[in-house]
Amino acid sequence: MSKVNRRKFLGNIVAYNATVIIGANLLMACTKDSYGVQGSQELEHLPIQDDNPAIAFWKKKCEECGDCIEACAVKQKVFGTYQASSSKHVCIHCGSCIIECEEKALTEKYHWQDVLAAIDDPSKIVIASVSPAVRVGIGDYFDMGAGSYLVGNMVGACRSVGFDYVLDTNFSADLTIMEEAAELQKRIQQKAGMPQFTSCCPAWVKYVEIYYPSLLANLSTVRSPIAMQGSLVKSYFAHKMGIDPRTIVHVAITPCSAKKYEITRDELVIDGLRGTDIVITTRELAKLLKNRKVSLMAQTGNFDSLMSETSGAGIIFGNTGGVMQAALRTAYVNISGSNPPENLLELKQIQGLTGLKEAKVVIGSASLKVAVCYEMRNAKVLLNQVMNGTCKYDFIEVMACKGGCVGGAGQPADSSKIEKRISALNSADKLASNRYCHENPEIRKIYHDFLGEVGSPEAKKYLHTTYNDKSNLL
Ligand code: SF4
Ligand code: SF4
Ligand code: SF4
Repeated sequence: MSKVNRRKFLGNIVAYNATVIIGANLLMACTKDSYGVQGSQELEHLPIQDDNPAIAFWKKKCEECGDCIEACAVKQKVFGTYQASSSKHVCIHCGSCIIECEEKALTEKYHWQDVLAAIDDPSKIVIASVSPAVRVGIGDYFDMGAGSYLVGNMVGACRSVGFDYVLDTNFSADLTIMEEAAELQKRIQQKAGMPQFTSCCPAWVKYVEIYYPSLLANLSTVRSPIAMQGSLVKSYFAHKMGIDPRTIVHVAITPCSAKKYEITRDELVIDGLRGTDIVITTRELAKLLKNRKVSLMAQTGNFDSLMSETSGAGIIFGNTGGVMQAALRTAYVNISGSNPPENLLELKQIQGLTGLKEAKVVIGSASLKVAVCYEMRNAKVLLNQVMNGTCKYDFIEVMACKGGCVGGAGQPADSSKIEKRISALNSADKLASNRYCHENPEIRKIYHDFLGEVGSPEAKKYLHTTYNDKSNLL
């Protein structure tokens, strides 16, 4: 549909809904199903507010095409579920509107200059932690082929620009699975809180908090890898390296706009400290490097040795289905006592760009039924099954973005490249010397030296979190 026609289409919706508000409830139900816009909408773009921690609106660039409204209402099922106005906007910070806005009138909130200011401050120790999807997206900004796996160049460039330490968030992805697989086994044994939902996508977590607060107990209590990385950088890492954690500026480099919101959550504060101080996206990393005239391809380097060792399971966290595959590898060994057969290392049924996928995994006499989805329109199908008692799954992975984090709003805009990024992470997993997080020597060491057992009080403090009913936002 052309932009002009789309504006007419939206105009019709607006007019129709204005009638609905005055008219009958039944009519309201019809329009909610067909498009989801509720209320007397006179809005031609999403009413993003200045205090949104993740999304910025640049009014002068806006052509009022309405594409952002459609993305938010149709893909993410947010706009249209409440009475929107210029002073009220509900947002899960997923960034789908950013992806749809060709005019760049919607962007992530930029924080890359804050990172440069911290790097230029000699009293600060600036630590970067880099998410898996960044290494297969950053190359697009430097004319490399789509899905180029540029981990060495990316780390070298971060060092060159002045980060004191460069760590791999994949390490905490491995930790996430250690805790989440154990949590799943406990829920199955206790027949409580089933199905278990993954919790590493903050946009999805906020969606459940707003729209399905009665299902908060189904969310895994495990923090996202970035939230875990933050709590450990300012405790375990600082202690091992002899650094005062108050001098650390921890920067998460991610494909994600929602992480900018996630780090503001008070539930993540430990001993008065926020684990992560600044989140920048892949796009912002490119801006930062270009600002300092650092050429990505001319650099090479390795992650620091502490908090950077990863398994193949941690690498695939960036893909839809990746968290589930990683979790099943460790759940398998937890339940059966041995690693899964080779054919279970890649579960094709839950890979790739289908919005809603399922698989069944037999482990001895037990079987696990799992579902994987992205975008809230697909998550809603599963959530409603849980609500009406027809859900047949034990474990559900949800990501807000198409293809998972490789398709995040902070990645290069060309979403046709998502499949190549997925393939690149899958290839790196296949080539990894170890494909199980429970066999990662550095994971074993952190439990031995710092956390104790999986699920211990220390693990609960640094690796888990809580959630809140946010239905009052509607
Ligand atoms: S998609 Fe961009 S240009 Fe179109 S209405 Fe939204 S903000 Fe404006
Ligand atoms: S970030 Fe997501 S929820 Fe927020 S306005 Fe954009 S599309 Fe809607
Ligand atoms: S899918 Fe990944 S990139 Fe997208 S909102 Fe969730 S965590 Fe962020």
